[in-house]
Amino acid sequence: MRGTVRFAAREVVPDPGVVLLRAGIPAGIEPSARTRRLLDAAERHFLALAEPRGIVAELPPAACAEAVRASGRDEPETVLGRVLPLAEATALFAATLGEPLCAQIRSLTAGEDLPLGFMLDALASEAADGLGWRLGALWRERLVGAGPTSAATRVLPYSPGYCGWHVRGQEALFRALPPDPVGIVLNASCLMSPLKSVSGVLVAAAPEAHRFQPDFPFCAACATHECRARMLPWPDDGRTPSGEGEVSWIS
Ligand code: SF4
Repeated sequence: MRGTVRFAAREVVPDPGVVLLRAGIPAGIEPSARTRRLLDAAERHFLALAEPRGIVAELPPAACAEAVRASGRDEPETVLGRVLPLAEATALFAATLGEPLCAQIRSLTAGEDLPLGFMLDALASEAADGLGWRLGALWRERLVGAGPTSAATRVLPYSPGYCGWHVRGQEALFRALPPDPVGIVLNASCLMSPLKSVSGVLVAAAPEAHRFQPDFPFCAACATHECRARMLPWPDDGRTPSGEGEVSWIS
């Protein structure tokens, strides 16, 4: 199964609370009137310029595991190393918010309006992260009931550069995907262009398969401990969107 998705920008605007968190304003702190104005302005820029789109390509779990390990530079033990053997189905994905929004962030942060650029960058980073979840929700809608999946099956995105999977893993992922139809390219440093893009593996599995002890050696240097929120029971994680978007499944 392989498909491309186009989202309306308004469908992928993240919750203001998570944007403020990403911008460094702790939860429970009332933002100032100036911060609210910046957030509103950032949202207007986002709605005018974002071109969210993505691609999903289903691959058997064994082939996905091979692509994940291909860089040969992963940590000896990784999160995906524990999760993938329990997968019911897997797919590679990539998604982007498009170049016009990224160009605007660059102009603003280069001096045009630094505070607004900073807020727009935070908003776009959250929205880009959310695209992986949205693609997962759409793929899940098509998947559930087929093969070993069930109504309880949960789909989570996992990306190179996190949790023991080396960022160089993107090279094999891009070769296997490839994401050209949605206009994402990878440079020699494994940076995606447009910059506000995400890629990785969607893992469909029983909810327990996505739960693990974050006791890897690299967890000591983790700044986010994001896995804790990802392991909350569905739908209480607050990050699992419904499947919306204009999908073209090729097969
Ligand atoms: S603590 Fe951080 S590095 Fe460790 S598994 Fe969780 S998110 Fe990954």
